[in-house]
Amino acid sequence: MPLKLPPFEASSRTHRWALSNRSKDTKQEIALRSALHRTGYRFRKHSVIVLPDRRVRPDIVFPRYRLAVFVDGCYWHGCPEHHGSPTSNSDYWRWKIAHNVERDELVNQSLTAHGWHVVRIWEHVPTAIAVSRLATTLSAIHESRPERVLLQTENRHNARAERQSNQL
Ligand SMILES: [Zn+2]
Repeated sequence: MPLKLPPFEASSRTHRWALSNRSKDTKQEIALRSALHRTGYRFRKHSVIVLPDRRVRPDIVFPRYRLAVFVDGCYWHGCPEHHGSPTSNSDYWRWKIAHNVERDELVNQSLTAHGWHVVRIWEHVPTAIAVSRLATTLSAIHESRPERVLLQTENRHNARAERQSNQL
């Protein structure tokens, strides 16, 4: 069910505060990316993933691992620990945050459905913990690969065998 957008005043302090907190490249993201550089994994920032049903722009993408990483702002994405209720325009902001949470969930589903791995990290998570979580995920993806590669090789063999038998 679509949520109805209530009106809001552009001049409000909350609005200006929220807009200033909206930008990409937050301190947390920058710290995370520089720590990730040191791990040696190749990644891209803000590259677009085009899915059949939507375009997604994660904060960090590991293309070889098909891993999309989002650093979610505590306020905007409704962190259960830090999501306080703003004093003004609370209807609008409640709506906005609920909308973001819903959209995040749809994005996760869509990425997963199209073979991507998704990790979401709250901005309050310390960089070292975020890096170790990503390293664990990346190595788990890596571990799961030999099987897939074998499977593909097997399929290719089968296809070749089939072609050859057709030629006979
Ligand atoms: Zn938080």
